[in-house]
Amino acid sequence: MLDLAIIGSGPAALTAAIYAARAGVKTEVFEKAKIGGALTEIDRIENYPGFVGAGSGLAENLKKQAELAGAKISYGTCEKITTADASVELMIDGELTNARAVIVATGSEPKTLELDTTTPISYCAVCDAPLYKGKNIAVIGGGNSAVQEALYLSEIVNHIVLYSHSGLKADAVLIDKIKAAGNIEIHENAMPTKAELDALDGVFVFIGKRPATTFLPADLLDDKGYIVTSDFAAAPGIFAAGDVRSGSTKQAITAAADGAAAALAAVEYLKR
Ligand SMILES: Cc1cc2nc3c(=O)[nH]c(=O)nc-3n(C[C@H](O)[C@H](O)[C@H](O)COP(=O)(O)OP(=O)(O)OC[C@H]3O[C@@H](n4cnc5c(N)ncnc54)[C@H](O)[C@@H]3O)c2cc1C
Repeated sequence: MLDLAIIGSGPAALTAAIYAARAGVKTEVFEKAKIGGALTEIDRIENYPGFVGAGSGLAENLKKQAELAGAKISYGTCEKITTADASVELMIDGELTNARAVIVATGSEPKTLELDTTTPISYCAVCDAPLYKGKNIAVIGGGNSAVQEALYLSEIVNHIVLYSHSGLKADAVLIDKIKAAGNIEIHENAMPTKAELDALDGVFVFIGKRPATTFLPADLLDDKGYIVTSDFAAAPGIFAAGDVRSGSTKQAITAAADGAAAALAAVEYLKR
């Protein structure tokens, strides 16, 4: 049996892995997609103390540091978590794994949009922008992340039509920047028609995020699906860290700080 299973591999999970493994706890990280989580989508991070550069570089450093500390990092999707006698049962890729404790650090996922079009749809600018070099695209969304992503894409693609169904809600400074970009056409209170979308090379959708918690019992979640914790614990043996935790500030550095605090709480729990 594992001492500690950590679900996810963003900054919260990898920091938790560093702290837990260094405390001598047998730790395994399970990641369903990309090691590094949302860090791998950040073109350039400038507000993480001690690191400026591509988010993928920070992710790689954290992974190496967690492995050096002794944590095992594996691919696997957690499908269910239940508490059993003095342990936690995890269903990972259809197989049962037991751990004495678990830290859930699964972050959030983009909200998807059903669009009637044959044009490819993307939810990640950093991942897919190179495919649209010099091409014409639409961006859908009006919040800070949509506007930031449109600005990033505007330096790579030829032309962007930005559709915001309820008007732009981004910070004024960002709105000024997209207005000044020169190749972003803004359509407020409007959504694209099928014909408009079909005529484009790609569509990027940034309409918000939802927590990745469908595998957890509903009584551990708030009304938006985030995990409710007290001192990083959601239930005996179940801890949460990072963007998935109710009330988190959804930044890389605070996710990392959460990971450290959740690991220390889990280590204390395991000692008891
Ligand atoms: C485009 C973009 C730009 C950003 N820019 C900045 C910035 O400049 N500065 C900043 O501080 N923050 C920024 N952020 C936010 C920052 O990336 C997040 O706050 C941070 O990554 C959250 O870390 P986390 O560990 O909580 O979750 P995440 O990084 O989201 O990692 C969660 C991981 O869990 C995995 N997972 C989910 N469900 C399961 C499951 N069932 N089983 C196994 N694994 C699972 C996911 O695949 C993912 O890898 C940005 C985010 C994005 C998307």
